[in-house]
Amino acid sequence: MTTNIHNFIGGEMLPASVSHYTSVYNPSRGEVIAQAPDSDLQAVAQAVQAARQAFPAWADTPIVERARVMFRFVHLLEEHFDELSQLVTREHGKTLDESHGDVRRGIEVVETACHAPTLLMGQTLDQVSRGIDGRVERHPLGVCVGITPFNFPAMVPLWMFPIAIVCGNTFILKPSPKVPLTALRLAELLTEAGLPKGVFNVLHGGAETVDALLTHPDVAAISFVGSTAVAKHIYETGTAHGKRVQAAGGAKNYMLVMPDADLDAATGQIIGAAFGCSGQRCMAGSVAIAVGKAGDPLLERLDEAAKKMRVGPTDSGSAVDMGPVIDAVARERIRGYIDIGLNEGAKLATDGRGVSLTEATDGFFVGPTIFDHAAPEMRIVRDEIFGPVLSVMRMEDLSDAIAQANKSAYGNGAVIFTRDGGAARMFARYVNCGMIGINVGVPAPMAVFPFTGWNQSFFGDLHIQGIEGFHFYTHNKVILSRWNDPGKRVQGW
Ligand code: NAD
Repeated sequence: MTTNIHNFIGGEMLPASVSHYTSVYNPSRGEVIAQAPDSDLQAVAQAVQAARQAFPAWADTPIVERARVMFRFVHLLEEHFDELSQLVTREHGKTLDESHGDVRRGIEVVETACHAPTLLMGQTLDQVSRGIDGRVERHPLGVCVGITPFNFPAMVPLWMFPIAIVCGNTFILKPSPKVPLTALRLAELLTEAGLPKGVFNVLHGGAETVDALLTHPDVAAISFVGSTAVAKHIYETGTAHGKRVQAAGGAKNYMLVMPDADLDAATGQIIGAAFGCSGQRCMAGSVAIAVGKAGDPLLERLDEAAKKMRVGPTDSGSAVDMGPVIDAVARERIRGYIDIGLNEGAKLATDGRGVSLTEATDGFFVGPTIFDHAAPEMRIVRDEIFGPVLSVMRMEDLSDAIAQANKSAYGNGAVIFTRDGGAARMFARYVNCGMIGINVGVPAPMAVFPFTGWNQSFFGDLHIQGIEGFHFYTHNKVILSRWNDPGKRVQGW
């Protein structure tokens, strides 16, 4: 029997009064493990009201006290590190190592939130006019909402709410209905860390729940991470309703391999970037361009490494390099793209359909897949597949390869493998995207930096996490104060 999970509102796990639920799977087995409610307007109103009520007292809580909650939260996240990682693996399907990374990168954001007393300091300038001093302070916005994707059940929610909350806001997290369990566990740990009721809330649901949040008059700001089509909708609807919005979308990330690169090292990095988390990462490397004579030796190495990968269920403790994809719909979409690539004329070097598993299960598996001789106009090069499919193109010249990468509609990451500083510099300077790797396969920034997607990978002005996160969750107040001089000048000054 599977359990119906609850919303977490006003410090309580509350059953939602809804008739419709979404099944949550263990993707390694294809089994339903829970049912998440699709919250209706009444539940949305309840969550917003709880967050609205909690706001004034929390915003007035001294900053060091707010930061102390984050210190205790970090401690609890460390204490429950393995348990949380196992939960991520259970509902998402990524390997335990990958779940450790998911939780670890999230903890690093909470550690950054602990620095809030320094990071929220304003500016002052005395005597801006006679007897008048000026200062800038940072004030919280109010009720903030976070809408998150399935692919990082711990890290992506943690990109948002620790910073929002430590800045003095209250928060409603609307996690992906595919991975709602980690979010609820984080809520329990935050409560144990001493966060007052109503400051953090978890509301389950899908598009309807999101739309009700986007248009609610008491919601001040929306952070979104997910696919580009939804990111655009969130940005347009949220801003049309007067909200501050940051919306991160999908991606198609290029990896250029120069003929002078250390090909063994590059192969390891490319395999990790393409097939880590079964290719379900917005920073996944999904197109490789082999420049000049790098082509054949690179393909040979990639093919050999991909075929060696052990694919299987991630929840049984047996050694695997790659787990399942999130659900049957994703598996069929990815298989469909393999058919598309074949029809478009790319050469299927490694075929992930019908991969043999380390253990037989009904889970949602697609093995590592590599296309050679992919071409710019092909959909396998242009579309985000969001699965373990790598398309390799061959080009003669670095500048042509950069121009090709710049044709992408997206703009998250791009990577070059080379021993030539000049080539690396040219690439970093002229490639049009926000996160660049030089001999680094996945250039995802750590928590003190913003996650700087460009083009169709981001809608908004201030990016998620890092100092831009602190700026997103606060607005500036400039205060000019005049205190009349008591009259006498200070002797000797
Ligand atoms: P998704 O867009 O389907 O869902 C994301 C969130 O939006 C979920 O909470 C979902 O319930 C909600 N949602 C879905 N459809 C909606 C609609 N029509 N209206 C309102 N809300 C809706 O994304 P996903 O499949 O969960 O995650 C994968 C996507 O996320 C990929 O495109 C990936 O590149 C992207 N992603 C981007 C980043 C980044 O930083 N740019 C990071 C992680 C994932």
